[in-house]
Amino acid sequence: MNLNKLYLQDFRNYRELELELDSGVNLIVGENAQGKTNLLEAIAYLGSGKSFRAQKTAEMVRFSAPFAELEGRIFSQSREQSIRWVLFPASRPRILQQNGVKKRSAGELFGVFPTVLFCPEDLLILKAGSAPRRRLGDQALCALRPNYDAALTEYQRILEQKNRILKDRLENPAVVEILPEYNARLCQVGALLISYRARFYDALGKAAAAYHDRFSGGREEFTLHYRTVSTVTDPFAPVEVLRSQLQEHLQSHYRAELESVQCLTGPHKDDFDVLLNGISLKSFGSQGQTRTAAISLKLAQRELMGREWGEEPVLLLDDVLSELDARRQDFVLNQIDRGQVFITCCEPGRFTKLGKTIEIRQGRIEQE
Ligand code: ATP
Ligand code: MG
Repeated sequence: MNLNKLYLQDFRNYRELELELDSGVNLIVGENAQGKTNLLEAIAYLGSGKSFRAQKTAEMVRFSAPFAELEGRIFSQSREQSIRWVLFPASRPRILQQNGVKKRSAGELFGVFPTVLFCPEDLLILKAGSAPRRRLGDQALCALRPNYDAALTEYQRILEQKNRILKDRLENPAVVEILPEYNARLCQVGALLISYRARFYDALGKAAAAYHDRFSGGREEFTLHYRTVSTVTDPFAPVEVLRSQLQEHLQSHYRAELESVQCLTGPHKDDFDVLLNGISLKSFGSQGQTRTAAISLKLAQRELMGREWGEEPVLLLDDVLSELDARRQDFVLNQIDRGQVFITCCEPGRFTKLGKTIEIRQGRIEQE
């Protein structure tokens, strides 16, 4: 998969931009706040309809512009294709066209132009709290399995409704009568999430282990453990078994949830651990080990996507290389010899020789 040409109009700080891209490494260089990350955001948005930084679509429209336009000419699924988005600052729905034909939702672009983003926060993901790890897993899995994406959205919707019921109960005790119905639906959709996650984390852990093994010269054995609700004895069990085990757990927390006025248990609290030679990385890992393991995880994510579609997804490295020492930089660069890569950095330094350099100043390009 390749992005050959990018056209932006009134996207973030880009008034107008037309850019030809290299099918290998594209180095995006510029000082702070010039538009480097904005460019990666546009590339990631093209194929997914999702922004990795904006809360609302309107944020991506250049201040006081009537709309933003993004168009990419890509090579994917053995042919030239085009994707075009028009985004509006108010609540007017966005427009999507693929190869000149209007599409109803971003879901129709599934597998056409997926990207993997790697940023400095990802380097700390194995030491952080569970939320960013869960987000990383969910984003990767949503990009691979549209049914998972739909189930996750549904789960979050039911969870929100249940939380509202728990709060409403303080004023209107009768609402607890509808709680069992919400719990039943949570368990049903939750079981599906666990089933998908068990398989995904298993594959991700194995692929990451291979990278970590190469990087550590075979000295460290990387294992990944998916952790879910404690009554689930085997996350690979049939969905019906998972459902009843979730139900069991919810029932035992029924009173506690009423008292604490919040949903205490469920796959929305899932997490995963990484062990190196059987020792928890989160508790005992050194800084270098943590970074190397995180790199292995991200490369594994890219590999799973590549396997799924038979083509490497585009890799977006936002400021990440400058956070790594020379040895880890080389490792990453050696592992990404296939596929298209976009690398942002403030000082080009030793990377300039890699491929095409694109210099950005205040939302404008100066090509070399
Ligand atoms: P750094 O090296 O610090 O990460 P960067 O080159 O990645 O910088 P970006 O995050 O891409 O910088 O761009 C930030 C700039 O874009 C900010 O100055 C911000 O004001 C501007 N910007 C963001 N959204 C909009 C918008 N909707 N309209 C106009 N300008 C915007
Ligand atoms: Mg940036």
